[in-house]
Amino acid sequence: VAEQGVPEESVVTTCAYCGVGCSFQAELKDDQVVRMVPYKYGKANHGHSCVKGRFAWGYTNHPDRITAPMIRDKVTDPWREVTWEEAYDFAVKRIQSISDAHGHSALGAITSSRCTNEETYLVQKLARAVFGTNNVDTCARVCHSPTGYGLKTAFGTSAGTQGFDSVEASDVILVIGANPTDAHPVFGSQMKRRLREGARLIVVDPRAIDLVRTPHVEADYHLQLKPGTNVPLVNALAHTVLDEGLEDEAFIKERCEVDEYAEWKEFILRPENSPEAVADITGVDAESIRAAARLYATGGEAAIYYGLGVTEHSQGSTMVMGMANLAMATGNIGRNGVGVNPLRGQNNVQGSCDMGSFPHELPGYRHISDPGVRDIYEKEWGVSLDSDPGMRIPNMIDAATNGTFKALYVQGEDILQSDPNIKHIASGLSAMECVIVQDLFLNETASYAHVFLPGSTFLEKEGTFTNAERRINRVRKVAEPPAGKADWEITQDLAQALGYPMNYSDPSGIMDEIARTTPTFTGVSFDKLDRLGSVQWPCNEQHPEGTPVMHVGDFVRGRGKFMLTPYVASDERANRKFPLLLTTGRILSQYNVGAQTRRTGNSLWHSEDILEIHPSDAEVRGIADDTLVAVASRMGETTLRAKVSERVMPGVLHTTFHFPETATNVITTEYADWATECPEYKVTAVEVRPCNTL
Ligand code: SF4
Repeated sequence: VAEQGVPEESVVTTCAYCGVGCSFQAELKDDQVVRMVPYKYGKANHGHSCVKGRFAWGYTNHPDRITAPMIRDKVTDPWREVTWEEAYDFAVKRIQSISDAHGHSALGAITSSRCTNEETYLVQKLARAVFGTNNVDTCARVCHSPTGYGLKTAFGTSAGTQGFDSVEASDVILVIGANPTDAHPVFGSQMKRRLREGARLIVVDPRAIDLVRTPHVEADYHLQLKPGTNVPLVNALAHTVLDEGLEDEAFIKERCEVDEYAEWKEFILRPENSPEAVADITGVDAESIRAAARLYATGGEAAIYYGLGVTEHSQGSTMVMGMANLAMATGNIGRNGVGVNPLRGQNNVQGSCDMGSFPHELPGYRHISDPGVRDIYEKEWGVSLDSDPGMRIPNMIDAATNGTFKALYVQGEDILQSDPNIKHIASGLSAMECVIVQDLFLNETASYAHVFLPGSTFLEKEGTFTNAERRINRVRKVAEPPAGKADWEITQDLAQALGYPMNYSDPSGIMDEIARTTPTFTGVSFDKLDRLGSVQWPCNEQHPEGTPVMHVGDFVRGRGKFMLTPYVASDERANRKFPLLLTTGRILSQYNVGAQTRRTGNSLWHSEDILEIHPSDAEVRGIADDTLVAVASRMGETTLRAKVSERVMPGVLHTTFHFPETATNVITTEYADWATECPEYKVTAVEVRPCNTL
């Protein structure tokens, strides 16, 4: 600040990286951001931040920003800068000719959890009301779609049960497949404070994350399981609870569907679900499983926090329901200190799901086949809606390779880097006749685009993000978008160019429409958010100032529903050719595919993806620290630098996916969650060997 001068103005807004949703004051001088200061009244962060958030503005003025719309006839042609009108005209002609020749189902849209609620809402409205298709999806497909499915089935709504501050009332914290100190650092610190005060900790993870042993915090139990074995482990925890009579009978009787509970009890007590039976499958000894289950069931207020290590599996949805079963069986739902809480990866992944950007659901998680719900939107939008669910991202790509899907509008998402089986994504994109990418930079997906529409950063627009605790935070504009338009304006322009009357003057008008049509948002408005700072949905007549803890007294669905969770092993197995299992995660200084953080000072801390390998696996392969290694799966091969580490167990490797040079997803597989098609990023059979070049 000393170099850049004393700030003249500050504007409170929300970090655009992870699902914690920290509030910041963006300090300005000469209309430029000179510093981001954590906002002490921010209800998600209470004045704290991490290194990502403090430097989050660094990429907004990066020379790689695209500042004019561009078009090209073929993806092998050079880009031509054009006016907005020329770009829209080009896109409209292609969309209309594809729609005329192949029908509405040849069109689709993908929105991003990086965009605001209002922008995401408009993308699904564009797809449904203007394109005439339910082919709309969000990047939640590749992260927390199993959370949506599992929690809605068990509890009745697709969201975490608690606010972050609830952890301060927890006596036992069960962290499964999450690494909060790296991926959700401000909440990770809040959790560590509670652990230092004496809360007990159980970590379920194939890797020794920081929380397992860090200054003044040590996990009581680290259940270091083999990748892909979450479901037998959670079943064995539940088996112990029932086998040893530790269940909360009163809670089950008063709050849950008792017939389904009886069926589940019979299932979970089967011998194959005992800790002794699953010890070989999971690699975790039976006594540790039993001890952890006793602690969770009897240690006081017990909360579950989980991440992508739960969802990104072929049984991701099963595991979410398994955790819900465990929480209901022990009565750990519906008050402070307990609950089942997804740590959402992206800033607005909760919001993008809330806003109806799934092919089967309208905003508020209401199924598209429900005529009453469709009627609300048909009246509001003045169109009739298709009652059949549309295609998910992987289905759109498959259909493109089969020649039946032709045009895709992608707002703020780089599917060619973030989605699995990149070669297949590339062949799908290259088969399309119209790919429209709306983004900040020429990302990997843009290499297959015909139209590029330059988007805006979070500092260049008004709107809202919803964080992992359902908190709707305001995003406020502090600078002009270099190409002159916020993302919501571009979507609106495209709708108008296609002949649909969309005329919002401001994102607050979009939120007013969301509130008019979505029961959990009826009490939300920009005025209220500005007055209260933020609110946690449901925010409506019954809860005018929001809802920090859900399912108090009753579940949203009425009674909690126990679901059977039989273990089905992943089809991806270690074998003679690929004897090791690779799993992936994040590091503190980088964010997802790194499009933003790689263009900030954060790259001073880390500038490449690193492969962690256990000493025993490294030694037999002649691998030492910093050795360049080729990692091959049956899908492809990539090159990384190795780090020999006991954080991973023998037979397991770990890396991140922040850098396109590595393209980690070249080697991940086509397997996916059975219910939602969330990719199985966390289990890939690989072999690794030293090599000489990157
Ligand atoms: Fe907060 Fe997450 Fe941003 Fe860090 S990255 S400042 S924890 S919202």
